[in-house]
Amino acid sequence: MDFESYIRDVADFPKPGVTFKDITPLLNNTKALTAASDALLNMLEGVHVDKVVGVDSRGFIFAPMLASKLGAGFIPVRKKGKLPYKTLSEPYDLEYGTDILEIHSDAIKKGEKVLVHDDVLATGGTAQAVCKLVEKLGGEVVQCNFLIQLAFLDGAEKLNGYPIRSLLRY
Ligand code: 5GP
Repeated sequence: MDFESYIRDVADFPKPGVTFKDITPLLNNTKALTAASDALLNMLEGVHVDKVVGVDSRGFIFAPMLASKLGAGFIPVRKKGKLPYKTLSEPYDLEYGTDILEIHSDAIKKGEKVLVHDDVLATGGTAQAVCKLVEKLGGEVVQCNFLIQLAFLDGAEKLNGYPIRSLLRY
């Protein structure tokens, strides 16, 4: 499957000078959607997963599909103030300033094997904060997987030591 043909470049979004990788054409096509889900799953061959963490908000699209197919639970990591129960928080850098990600404090049991999934790996700050949350709860990150890795932004450096997989690299 030529996944690249289903990714749309949107110039100057969300602000001037940024070219945004829009995954909605891929989601809109049932063959591409299914093939992408299958390909993400295939990246995990031989890897045991107890929980799949999806990152607010586009990580919520594939993470539950993967969890269901893996026989694992799904865990949402959300921006500050969105989760209803007790949370752990982790700050992460934005281009200007910082934001905070949160996870429910009872979401992971010590020693559980965790897949971290998001749509795009850019600078790596988001995924790094998510990995810290997983580890604070005693989980072990067994893979970080993405639809798209913007390799020119060197996000992988922030995830040094974690296995990283992606369907597409730019
Ligand atoms: P990072 O923290 O790695 O710089 O940014 C990754 C986060 O920003 C991900 O949650 C991802 O959804 C979002 N993101 C950054 N750039 C893009 C992009 O070009 N396309 C999409 N779909 N998401 C992006």
